[in-house]
Amino acid sequence: MQNIVILGAGQAGFQTAASLRQLGFDGTIRLVGDEPGLPYQRPPLSKAYLLGKTDTAGLQFRPDTYFADSRVALIEDTASAIDRTAKRVSLARGEALEYDHLVIATGARNRLLPVPGADLGGVMGLRTLADADRLGEKLKQVEDVVVVGAGFIGLEFAAVAATLGKTVHVVELADRPMQRAVSAAMSDCFTVAHRNWGVTLHLGAALARLTGKRQVSGVELADGSHIAAGLVVYGIGVQPNAEIAQAAGLHAPNGITVDAFLRTPDPAVSAIGDCALFPCAQAGGQAIRLESVQNAADQARALAANLTGTRTPYTALPWFWSDQGDLKLQMVGLSKGHDRTVTLGDTGARAFSTLLFRDNRLIATESVNRPADFMIARKLLGTPGRALPTPDEAASESFDMRAWEK
Ligand code: FAD
Repeated sequence: MQNIVILGAGQAGFQTAASLRQLGFDGTIRLVGDEPGLPYQRPPLSKAYLLGKTDTAGLQFRPDTYFADSRVALIEDTASAIDRTAKRVSLARGEALEYDHLVIATGARNRLLPVPGADLGGVMGLRTLADADRLGEKLKQVEDVVVVGAGFIGLEFAAVAATLGKTVHVVELADRPMQRAVSAAMSDCFTVAHRNWGVTLHLGAALARLTGKRQVSGVELADGSHIAAGLVVYGIGVQPNAEIAQAAGLHAPNGITVDAFLRTPDPAVSAIGDCALFPCAQAGGQAIRLESVQNAADQARALAANLTGTRTPYTALPWFWSDQGDLKLQMVGLSKGHDRTVTLGDTGARAFSTLLFRDNRLIATESVNRPADFMIARKLLGTPGRALPTPDEAASESFDMRAWEK
């Protein structure tokens, strides 16, 4: 194989190119991305970047010299179609790229608000550097901010806006924040923290419409109440950029279906990162999509290894983090289906970990401001066959995570 084309120059696409070179791949690598500038990391966009603690250069994975030095051709264009028979990708500006292997790493895009007024000025999502720049400018002009969706990105942004002195309201349909992803104990901790930072949380609240003429002036909830806002930021989930794969005849129900080697049924096409629907070892082989740096980067490394000769299935342990105010949340494993939790540390002091069990087996942990617990849990859950604490052991007075590290 001499010629690899990668669609999407985000976390997964960039890492694939970098790992291929690290592993000695000597052929052609073309990295096609539809965003301007050098590939960059997204997590700081909703954290340090909006607070002015890092600049654009600080977001970039590598400086521009890297691409020339590593012979990674960065092509700023949109891939518009894949011809799998001819093994060729068409780009929007008219160029066509032939490939021996095609990596689809097109990520995901924000779901739009499904209510009247969603197209008013001042209603914004946060996915790209361009979004963050627009948002940063708008933040300077407004005092009242409404965030729709109390997921990770919405809450990170809410914490930033509160730090910048704005009046912040968060509207969430579920009855607790980050409901899909964290335990009730962790939601409670973040509810209290956001309230202490001055954020007003409207939980179990449905959005009816956005008000305003051309610019948004506020949001109206289903109970008829109105909250004034010069800026509405939505974070209500994403949908995978899978249409290009679907149009090429690949199966993509909610993400592009791949096997344990991250290949589609076409052996010349793989998909990784936010856009890939893959059989997850930690979910008992069930096909899932994960939206995280860990998943994008580890899948890229695994695919690069497979493309350069090591045929191993992708089994990496999922982990994730979120920074909100002075709270650092770190999670490892998949908590879905947990039936028991044990809390270590002091929830009141906002430094604790929750261990999550299913059928008496440790399946995940969540830590806030306890990085050592997170690191130990990564070791425990990431090493097959390793002895794990039972819920009763974890709940005992003398339990110490560090004893399990050895
Ligand atoms: P992306 O990084 O989205 O890259 C895909 C790229 O492909 C994009 O540039 C897209 O424009 C481009 N593209 C799409 N279609 C085409 C096409 N047809 N042609 C050419 N290019 C195309 N994860 C964490 O683990 N921790 C965090 O704290 C965290 N914080 C986040 C904060 C924000 C604001 C955001 C938006 C995400 C955050 N994430 C976080 C998630 C993480 O950034 C993503 O999971 C990760 O970027 C996924 O990588 P990817 O390469 O699959 O997709």
